[in-house]
Amino acid sequence: MGWTSKGMKMKRSFHGELILPDRTVPDAYLITEGGRILSIEMEAPAESEVIEGTYIAPGFVDLHVHGGAGADYMDGTADAVRVANRAHARHGTTTIFPTTTTGSTEELAAMLAACLEVQASWSLRDGARIGGVHYYGPYFAEDKVGCHSVEGRRDPKPSEYEAFLATGLIRIATCAAELDGAEAFYRAAAAAGCLVTCGHSNSTWSEMARAYAAGMRHVDHFWCAMSSVASLRARYGTPMQASMEQFVLAHGEMSTEVIADGCHLSPELLEFAYRMKGATRLCLVTDANRALDMPAGRYRFGHPETGSWFESDGKVGFVPGQGLASSVVGMDEMVRVMARDTTASLPEVIRMASLTPAERVGVSDLVGSLEPGKVADVLILGSNLDVRAVYPGGERLDW
Ligand SMILES: [Zn+2]
Ligand SMILES: [Zn+2]
Repeated sequence: MGWTSKGMKMKRSFHGELILPDRTVPDAYLITEGGRILSIEMEAPAESEVIEGTYIAPGFVDLHVHGGAGADYMDGTADAVRVANRAHARHGTTTIFPTTTTGSTEELAAMLAACLEVQASWSLRDGARIGGVHYYGPYFAEDKVGCHSVEGRRDPKPSEYEAFLATGLIRIATCAAELDGAEAFYRAAAAAGCLVTCGHSNSTWSEMARAYAAGMRHVDHFWCAMSSVASLRARYGTPMQASMEQFVLAHGEMSTEVIADGCHLSPELLEFAYRMKGATRLCLVTDANRALDMPAGRYRFGHPETGSWFESDGKVGFVPGQGLASSVVGMDEMVRVMARDTTASLPEVIRMASLTPAERVGVSDLVGSLEPGKVADVLILGSNLDVRAVYPGGERLDW
């Protein structure tokens, strides 16, 4: 997967307050060599380059992201993938899971091929490394497509997804639980080693229970494009039914994610999600689209010719008269909002943006925390949690 960098023999010492998963260590040194984390010391070893920062944090891991800097992964070119990955690296993301949306089988195939090419040939200037693809659209429920084109949605068919799963590139797989063929898709994705997730769905508790038995363990962007007691009442009347929300809160194994950009969810909902699921089951995701780091204006979500239109005001994406259309900010902003708006400690906030997503998708042996032996994906953060420098694999990224 290209995690180890060759020819990087220089020893580096990152000095500052180290943010570990369960505590911070002030005035400490993180030692890296050959692209890996060597040790944590209280003194700098001789003959090492010392890099100073207020905070030293692990690189962020983003499980749900559509693009940035004008590019959407569904553009389907290696250039677009690199543009988006570089943009997110500037916001602290070092492991990224490019995310599909609704589109044709051919459009999805082009997106996967472009990501495979960039993953296989990664070098430092490419920014964030691809940990795998999040196969997210097209298996959305018709009444929960959100800002995505309803023409691009469909039910899962093995004739479409089997070849995609066989690439080995897909590590996260989404499907609405109530669709025909959802359980077979979940079982195939789980067998392929994916984190299996339910999203853009109006499913009931009993549909979620069947999905859980088939391997589903995660729900995309909590409270966004998902069922609620009220939405199910509109579908089934009374007695009112439990929804995705209750299922996630009632099952300790279930994880979920929040778009903590300050626009999608209020502070009390972010606090509630954190208190209910805890830092080991709640992930921060950007869900960022191509308008990240771009001027306010009108953009297409997904494919440049068939994707649906939305607007960005520079703070969030939205469809006028309808609702929000995902975020336009990076993971560093999600971290700052979570630290500001909730009672989560700084190690917990950073964990939700790094180790927890890495654990959920099965890459935490390599990335997600500042632990000896892991890839030296290191962030230099200022006192306001602003990203001062990014070191994917221990080498400084120029931007
Ligand atoms: Zn979505
Ligand atoms: Zn999304």
